Amino acid sequence: MQLIFLLPLVLAFFACAPLPPLGPAGGPPSPQPEPKPQEQEEPEKAEEPQIGERRIIDIGIGLRKEAAVIECPEKKWEFKAGSNLGKTEIETEGDCKYGDKIYRGNWSVLSTDSGLTIINTLPIEDYLKGVVPHEIGRLKQEEFEALKAQAVAARTYAYHHLGSRKSQGFDIYADTRDQVYNGKNEEDSLASEAILATDGLVIKYNGSLIEAYYHSTCGGKTETSEVWGQESKPYLVAVSDSANGRVFCELSKYMKWEEKFGREELVSLFQKNAMDARADKTFSFSKIDQIIVTEKFPGGRAKRLVVFTNKGSFEVFGDRIRRLFAREGKFLPSIPLNISQDKGIFTVMGSGYGHGIGMCQMGTIARAREGQTFEQILKAYYTGVSIEKY
Ligand SMILES: [Zn+2]
Repeated sequence: MQLIFLLPLVLAFFACAPLPPLGPAGGPPSPQPEPKPQEQEEPEKAEEPQIGERRIIDIGIGLRKEAAVIECPEKKWEFKAGSNLGKTEIETEGDCKYGDKIYRGNWSVLSTDSGLTIINTLPIEDYLKGVVPHEIGRLKQEEFEALKAQAVAARTYAYHHLGSRKSQGFDIYADTRDQVYNGKNEEDSLASEAILATDGLVIKYNGSLIEAYYHSTCGGKTETSEVWGQESKPYLVAVSDSANGRVFCELSKYMKWEEKFGREELVSLFQKNAMDARADKTFSFSKIDQIIVTEKFPGGRAKRLVVFTNKGSFEVFGDRIRRLFAREGKFLPSIPLNISQDKGIFTVMGSGYGHGIGMCQMGTIARAREGQTFEQILKAYYTGVSIEKY
């Protein structure tokens, strides 16, 4: 997926009004704002990961850049695209600044005909310090097990994706195409403690690393990786995120959502978004008669949506339905559960935020507050797995 499609989503998410506080189970809400969990996006085509003994990771921080400045304690390095084609490696003793952020680790800069690629290289345990606080938010001591669960999921994702962007010269992107990595700026002492407390632990299924997808809020039930048109995996099945009639992620503001669209507005949105939503066909039309969910996933989300127009019908599949309804670059929060129409107004209803696959981060936080351990939490969302040393 192109970053251009991701940025509006990310920006829109950060632009949200302060979220409601997350209260401990049964108690009064705490003054702490709801954390801002992120999620991995639908994967673009990646290469086969290299599973081995590597403990360091190469992160693609900058791509196709015209120029780059990396300020290290010993030296300020300046690069310009088009000159000195090849690779420059920078070994440093201290932290370096690139853009507006400070990073641990060493660097390499690839200069090719398509510009500069800036790569930050560091031990995976240090990489996680720049990932975990962003992915699940800054949490409190009573939510420590949630930080540990997120650390193990993010570590598993990192190991599983070593070598997956090899043709680009690194392992993993620093944005939602993989996991958001913000270097040293966003490190948080409690998150770092959780990383250390779970040092080297990963999630395996039948002895192999799992694809550890996670998302903000499942809304009551998670979903299989089929929402991206991928084959189903035995450890990524739809599971209920509730106990004793209460949904763990219920305090998220995205627990239930509803968006309304006018018939004419939808004509223009659908014409504009059909390609990005990978509609099975695209054509011009001037009227929408009906929108019907013809098939659902096991977790209840729409699997196949058929739009009937005055010029024929077209179909959109799974998570791409969120893009079909995108308004001002903002996708639907999650895949709709239902769509109804009344007097020319279409009401789209859903529950949750994100793709719904794997670990639900808001549920993870609530479970931690209720005393579940990180192992119990991970096993609740990833079916039949074990937690082991890499
Ligand atoms: Zn949930």
